[in-house]
Amino acid sequence: MTEVESIAVSGTSRPEGALIDRYGRVARDLRVSVTDRCNLRCTYCMPAEGLPWMAKPEMLDDDEMVRLIGIFVELGVRQVRFTGGEPLLRRSLVDVVRRVGELTPRPQMALTTNAVGLDRLAGRLADAGMNRVNVSLDTQDAETFKKLTLRDRFADVEKGLAAAAAAGLTPVKVNSVVMPGVNEDGIADLLQWCLDRDYELRFIEQMPLDAQHAWERSEMITADDIHARLGERFTLTPMPDSARGSAPAERFLVNGGPQTVGIIASVTRPFCGACDRVRLTADGQVRNCLFSRREEDLRALLRGGASDEDIAAAITGEMARKRAGHGIDDLSFVQPDRPMSAIGG
Ligand code: SAM
Ligand code: SF4
Repeated sequence: MTEVESIAVSGTSRPEGALIDRYGRVARDLRVSVTDRCNLRCTYCMPAEGLPWMAKPEMLDDDEMVRLIGIFVELGVRQVRFTGGEPLLRRSLVDVVRRVGELTPRPQMALTTNAVGLDRLAGRLADAGMNRVNVSLDTQDAETFKKLTLRDRFADVEKGLAAAAAAGLTPVKVNSVVMPGVNEDGIADLLQWCLDRDYELRFIEQMPLDAQHAWERSEMITADDIHARLGERFTLTPMPDSARGSAPAERFLVNGGPQTVGIIASVTRPFCGACDRVRLTADGQVRNCLFSRREEDLRALLRGGASDEDIAAAITGEMARKRAGHGIDDLSFVQPDRPMSAIGG
């Protein structure tokens, strides 16, 4: 038994920070995919026809999901982010959130969503204990939105964002993936749109996680390109790295502040050295990295009658295998088979 496994099976004496890997990184942030389904078809994520969705019996039910999250919390997780697919499509999401909010210690809870339908759910989610939301929005131009997501839903997203702010799910953050020839010319307009509404915008480099495997390194818009384009319209002052912690965004004050913009250089300046994340898929697989080529089957353990201690040992064992970095720039890099929507972004 390895040292980390022995920590895991030591029961109530398990120290804080048991989810430690070989490089000393401690996982505190659990991303839970609650469904692989989605109502949009962002071209960098999903093909127009959708994907072969998981069958319901393959997916964790609410009791299974809450039990696994509870074990992660015992192992030192302090933030749970619900994602997908589109998490709002899971009918029981509000219930799951309420139950996770009853765990001890109570983790912070966040949601990553495309915001379609959030106008109806924001208040109930906040009442159930949700703390914050990140809304994915790549353009504020309704026509470009339609081209990019293959759905005419921009007005719903706008309503969802406003409802999140009204429900106190703040700061409302907006995440935007920048794509060549699609929304790259509109990023300064999107920043102005977010500043006007007090949404905190972060731009993200596109990563090789599309179901179509069409990503090309040579074509991607880099963090430096994004910075240069924004710099044509705004004065960006870097905030000290100490403000960053394990958060991946490089942040800048816009026009002297106090509002900020973030740029996440996931590909060109990876932040793997400070990674504090671990992921649970909707079908109960634990993944130590977005780009991991393997996963550990917690659902099989759970349905086979395993104890919490056995499951904790499987989780810590998987974390011990976490690699130093995602290696997108290595010649040997192979894109994972699971697309982003089935891992949980
Ligand atoms: N449907 C929800 C949403 O869009 O926010 C949650 C799931 S989505 C997979 C999570 C995040 O992954 C979104 O912010 C999306 O923009 C991002 N994403 C998806 N594919 C990506 C890619 N190839 N590169 C970078 N980010 C990606
Ligand atoms: Fe759906 Fe999110 Fe993927 Fe867009 S990025 S297709 S909203 S899962």
